[in-house]
Amino acid sequence: MADYIYTMEIRLTPDQMKGVNLVQEIARTAEITLYLTGGAIRDIISGYTIRDLDFTVQGNPLKLQKEFERAGAQIAGRDEDTRALFLVLPGNVRAEISMARTETYEKVGKPPLIAPSSIQEDLRRRDFTVNAMALSLNEGSRGLLLDPFNGVADIEAKLVRILHNYSFAEDPSRLIRATRFAARFHWPLEERTQQRYNAAKENNYIEHIARGAIGHEIAQLAHEDDPLNVIRVLEREDWLKVLHPRWSSAKVDANGLALLMKTRQQMVDLGYSVDPSAAVMHFLTARLSDKDISDLRRQIPRKDLVEAWRDIEDHAKELAKRLTGKEAATPSRTWNLLSSARPEMILFLAVTARQQTVAQKIKNFLTKWRDVQKKIPLLEMTELLITPQLPTYPKIAHDVFMLLLDGKLRSRTETLRFLKPFAPPPPPPPPPPRRGRAGKATAAGAQPAEAAESTAKGKRGKGKSETPAAPVSTAQAPSSSGAKTKPAAAKPEATAKPVVHAAKAGSKHSHAHKTASKSKAASKLTKKPARKKAKSRKR
Ligand code: ATP
Repeated sequence: MADYIYTMEIRLTPDQMKGVNLVQEIARTAEITLYLTGGAIRDIISGYTIRDLDFTVQGNPLKLQKEFERAGAQIAGRDEDTRALFLVLPGNVRAEISMARTETYEKVGKPPLIAPSSIQEDLRRRDFTVNAMALSLNEGSRGLLLDPFNGVADIEAKLVRILHNYSFAEDPSRLIRATRFAARFHWPLEERTQQRYNAAKENNYIEHIARGAIGHEIAQLAHEDDPLNVIRVLEREDWLKVLHPRWSSAKVDANGLALLMKTRQQMVDLGYSVDPSAAVMHFLTARLSDKDISDLRRQIPRKDLVEAWRDIEDHAKELAKRLTGKEAATPSRTWNLLSSARPEMILFLAVTARQQTVAQKIKNFLTKWRDVQKKIPLLEMTELLITPQLPTYPKIAHDVFMLLLDGKLRSRTETLRFLKPFAPPPPPPPPPPRRGRAGKATAAGAQPAEAAESTAKGKRGKGKSETPAAPVSTAQAPSSSGAKTKPAAAKPEATAKPVVHAAKAGSKHSHAHKTASKSKAASKLTKKPARKKAKSRKR
């Protein structure tokens, strides 16, 4: 039997996994039954990028809002009708917690009657078989997959299949959703689903689409990996004009969008967790009028996306301004400034910056300056016992990187000369073995293995230390992470963090050093430890 908890754990990013644990903990405390549902399950099983986490609870999630806020989640919106909470969990994880419910459609074109239900009934109201599964996150049944419509089989067959014949009539937004999933995954509609789809199209069911569903579908485009492809397919099927009558693929800034997605991939590979959705919306609607854009925004239920999209240009302008000022007068200052900027802003500015200096600085930040990190002599630092175990290590690593960036350490010899004074004294030799009876025996000639080892260590200790070599994962490691696939997305922290960490430590520190000249900085950093080292040698 498949182990879905294991699959979930290896497919989710560490932040998403923390999100699952957090929601699970809150639901457990509130004694509410919780399931991971919908697209998250589909993507975990199919191997596609898990874009967001959909949870379903048997109860009212709106009551949990305070608990989520206390746990550090942002409330990005709520839907009173479906009692859904839209959240951004720590680590920028998008999540939705919905109430398990039935939706009864009494009249075509009218919204459904909503009532709380069990998870089994809830799965019956869903759009496609591959989206109608639930994974239990409850004690006693954790890991149990509810798959009443054989969604796993359809994932394997790569088919989009409705749950029943009236699906498109009940909710015509499913026509748009079917097209979107087919375009994204390149999965065709199953034969009968295709027939129903054609009939629904012919009968113009789409004119009964709910306004709320339009806003939801507009927002979903922002999270597509290839949004232009989806827009083109929606246009071909005549659904794009349903989202907005004046929207077309001609209104998209295709070049800007392509560059955005390419740069986003580059940033993901460097270890950034970057949410491109606001920028995607900017480019998808680049040639629409301000009024049309306002219309689109008004319909989107997730206000966090609307605000980010609305403010993106102003925030990017602010960052561009800072990048042309004193704050970014040197490569090291620019590095610190960009290290503390939001990745979303770096991404947007990388694509839209008009000033050559700004564009160049961002380019250096994402490419050339990363190579400078490789010049940090980590091996020699380990030999000098300058390892991550040292409390001062982040600062030393950062300082050396900053000096290298600014061209103040021009050779390896200069770099080592700078580093040597920071080497901690070697650890004292271990105390001599106690002389018990065994000790006497030793004195008589036979040296116990332990004692022999300590003596040897003591000798070695004079020159080099027996401290285990530090893991060489620090600033030199070329940060890498997979962009689209989950396991790779887990990497960023492991690889990029030390880099960012060092940069962060320095960004605080950099204020103190703002005016320090090269020699000042170096002497400040070298003098004290030099004396200490001399002392320790005497000892
Ligand atoms: P995506 O990867 O685009 O986020 P998703 O399947 O997670 O896909 P959402 O729009 O976030 O899509 O919806 C979450 C789940 O809610 C779906 O998987 C589906 O089970 C259900 N759902 C959403 N919209 C509808 C709808 N119009 N009719 C029935 N079920 C729906």
